[in-house]
Amino acid sequence: MTAPFRDLADTPIPADAGARMHAFVAELYPLCRSITGDGLRRTLALIAARIPLEVREVPTGTPVFDWTVPREWNIEDAYVKNAKGERVIDFRASNLAVVNYSAPVSARMTLAELRPRLHSLPDKPGWIPYRTSYYKEDWGFCLSHERLLALEEGTYEAVIESTLEAGSLSYGELLLRGETDDEVLISAHACHPSLANDNLAGIAVATFLAEMLLDAPRRYSYRFVFAPGTIGAIAWLAAHGDETRRIRHGLVLACLGDAGRPHYKKSRRGGAAIDRAALHVLKHRGDHGVREFSPLGYDERQYGSPGFDLPVGSLTRTPNGAYPEYHTSADDLAFVRPESLADSLGILRDIVSVLENDAVYRSTNPFCEPQLGKRGLYSAIGGRTFQDDLEVALLWTLNLADGAHGLLDIAERSGLPFDRIRRAAAVLREHGLLTPDGGAQ
Ligand code: ZN
Repeated sequence: MTAPFRDLADTPIPADAGARMHAFVAELYPLCRSITGDGLRRTLALIAARIPLEVREVPTGTPVFDWTVPREWNIEDAYVKNAKGERVIDFRASNLAVVNYSAPVSARMTLAELRPRLHSLPDKPGWIPYRTSYYKEDWGFCLSHERLLALEEGTYEAVIESTLEAGSLSYGELLLRGETDDEVLISAHACHPSLANDNLAGIAVATFLAEMLLDAPRRYSYRFVFAPGTIGAIAWLAAHGDETRRIRHGLVLACLGDAGRPHYKKSRRGGAAIDRAALHVLKHRGDHGVREFSPLGYDERQYGSPGFDLPVGSLTRTPNGAYPEYHTSADDLAFVRPESLADSLGILRDIVSVLENDAVYRSTNPFCEPQLGKRGLYSAIGGRTFQDDLEVALLWTLNLADGAHGLLDIAERSGLPFDRIRRAAAVLREHGLLTPDGGAQ
């Protein structure tokens, strides 16, 4: 008897997966996303072209806990023209050029009058910053500091052809039902305009993980949420209050494409099964960083608010804010690497495999070791040191299969990778030496 999903960890990440995820990032990159509006909607439609995502709309004005769904923002064009009629700041060249959620404006003003509306990065003079003004009606432009310094005195025409109207906030959701109603939540924010690592990389990796899971047997149900940061997660939580009790494990995905090493940020609980699973996988895959929970960052802030306290950690490569390109025009398509995207997908595959396969077993021969040799499970040559770590894994698994330890416990205590213990348990079950006890932790 073989448990379902045995083979996920054995499923290789296809050689072209990184390139295909990068192409998806490139497809999404030009869209001017925001926390509401058509850029967000088109992004969800492109995800829905790959996985059976359901898109939901929450009307403007809907109260969601302490917040209210804001007006919908859409934008056609924005620019600043100099006296010669040249676009010295141009939304069509980069959608970062306008402060996201800017109110409409059409005004002529001097450089001195315009200057407080212009945002640049003096310490990164070639890059355009990403700025937003979601909850205070305002407008402004972003440009490189080099370009700002090159602006001559004179009269400028500032135009933002945007609308802020009653509409709705969109989010996308995919529930893949498993054998149980217990859920694994995978959440990625979908509100940033042309920024590749934060968070198109997270969207791409989440979408490809969903693709991998679509046809796989699943013990858990998997719920993928693509929502605008903060307000989208809050709106999602407000609509799913009771259902969130089914969430056993969760991950917020962001910044998964840069060249840096992976980082795991623990859930608010700190010692949740997802924390143990993620840290175990990262430890055995190589160099990585670990961060404690903090109420800063992405939507783990909402999932980890005290009223919910969901076991949701966060996986990134270089964490948000810890790379210079963060929230600037340098977070572009070249900053995101296909090999990093593929590695991130591999990490998630391994974490999911741990969650799916972690279970408590009981040895059918608890009084002394069962004789493995007569079952062909043990080297016939005595006296040598252990060469085959499957044998080591068999002995550890048999010893700790006492109805109290799960396979992840055994992996941690033995120092062996979970996958070894999973394989050992499968072999022992095939030989009738192990029996399930209590199922999933
Ligand atoms: Zn961000």
